[in-house]
Amino acid sequence: MGDLPAPVLSLDAVVELVEARPGASFPEMQQYFGKPSQGEYSMSMRDDLIIWVGVSEPFAELLDQGINEGRLHLHGLGQTEAMLIHLADGGFLRMPMAKRVPPGGYKKPHWVPVVWYVGSGCAVKNCLGVDAVARSKKT
Ligand SMILES: [Zn+2]
Repeated sequence: MGDLPAPVLSLDAVVELVEARPGASFPEMQQYFGKPSQGEYSMSMRDDLIIWVGVSEPFAELLDQGINEGRLHLHGLGQTEAMLIHLADGGFLRMPMAKRVPPGGYKKPHWVPVVWYVGSGCAVKNCLGVDAVARSKKT
């Protein structure tokens, strides 16, 4: 991104980025938006299913809003795909990945690796649509 000014963090800017880079990962988005997107919040589907950590409250709220308004949605990643994408993009969570979630959930937090797409859903198998609402909380 060189000497270009950092983009302003807004839902429109997030949607534009994901439009330009379908399948954007969290580290990819956070590299783009820089410091304003980084912070002490985590995003999760449930307490035991973490999708990302280290986001700012405003960034988490924008992503929540994007999902709620059907402008953004998530795709789940397989284990190998998740490692390749997140290593290439410069970060992954150091926690076990969720595979087959036991009935009643995990005792310890597990990582559900995801990437972002625009719109409210599509026809691919790993599309989580907007049902996978991301909750955020301070860690
Ligand atoms: Zn989709």
